[in-house]
Amino acid sequence: MVILAAVLAPLGRQLQRRLAGRIRLQQQQQPVRRCNLSACSSRYVLSQMHPMWQEPLAIPGGERQSPIDISVRKSMFDPQLKPLVMKYDPRTCQQIWNNGYSFLVEYDDTTDKSTLQGGPLEDQFRLCQFHFHWGENNKWGAEHTVDHLLYPAELHLVHWNADRYSLFEEAVMEDNGLAVIGVFLKVGKRHEGLQKLVDALPAVRHKDSVVEFTRFDASGLLPENTQDYWTYAGSLTTPPLTEAVTWIIMKQPIEVSHDQLAVFRSLLFTSAEEDVQKSMVNNFRVQQPLKGRTVRSSFVPFLQDAHPGDVPQ
Ligand SMILES: [Zn+2]
Repeated sequence: MVILAAVLAPLGRQLQRRLAGRIRLQQQQQPVRRCNLSACSSRYVLSQMHPMWQEPLAIPGGERQSPIDISVRKSMFDPQLKPLVMKYDPRTCQQIWNNGYSFLVEYDDTTDKSTLQGGPLEDQFRLCQFHFHWGENNKWGAEHTVDHLLYPAELHLVHWNADRYSLFEEAVMEDNGLAVIGVFLKVGKRHEGLQKLVDALPAVRHKDSVVEFTRFDASGLLPENTQDYWTYAGSLTTPPLTEAVTWIIMKQPIEVSHDQLAVFRSLLFTSAEEDVQKSMVNNFRVQQPLKGRTVRSSFVPFLQDAHPGDVPQ
C-alpha cells in the first residue's frame, strides 16, 4: 500500500524484532489451508520470496486478518444489508504507479467526487486507488476464495472513511477506516472496460514508474450485479496489515481475456537498474484463519450456489 514506508518507519528495530517473534509463533500455529492443488505449496514459497514479505511485519493483533476463504454454506444472509451505492467520477483518476508489488491506479481523494456508500457501511467512503492481485498462470492468483475455489486474479477498490477521518493515512490505522471492494476475475472474453488500462501498462513496466492516467471509469470494472456480495471485518493484505478494512466481496466475477492477464504478468517487481529482472506474478497474500468471524451475505445462499457456476480457468 501507498503508506507502507510512512507507517513502518516509526517502528523501532526493537519493536520489529518483537513482532517478528510473535509472527513466527502465529505462523507455527496457523492451520494449513486445505487444498488439493500441488501448486499450493509453491504458491506459498513464491509469495514469501517477494521482498515485501522478507522483513518483519507489523501485525497489530492478528485477530481479523485477510484474505480468507468464504464458505458459502457458513455465510449468513443479512436482510439488513443495504444496496451498495458507488459514484465514481472518471475525472478524479490521476495516474498509474508500479509500486514493486502491483500497479496502483490512483484517484484524487481530496473531495467527495468518487464515493462508496450503503451496503454494510454507515459512513461515506472515498475511492483512493484500485489494484489487482494475480498469479503466474490462470490456475490461481486471487486472494479470497469461495469454497476454496481459486480465481486467476482479484481486483481491489480501496476507499477510506471521509466522514470520520481527514486523510487516508489516518483512516488506515483505524477500526472503521477502510472499505475495500473485491472483484474476482475469470478468464473468458476480452473486458472492454479494462482495455484502456491494459494499453497503458507497458509504460509502468518497472518498479517505481509512474504514468499519467486520466478519465478512467472505475465503475466499468464492477460486475453487472453489484447487489449480491459477502462482507466481513478484515485487514489489509499488504503491510502494514492493519485491521481497518470492511471487506465487500462481489459474488459475480468479471470476465477478462488471457491476453489481458498476460499484460499484467509482463510487468516487473524490479526497477530498471536491477541486474536480475523479476516478473510481477503471484502478488497475493496467503489465506488467514477466520478466528470466529461471521461472513454475511446480502443474498440468500441457496445450496445450488455452493459451487458458483463460474469455474476459473
Ligand atoms: Zn489488494
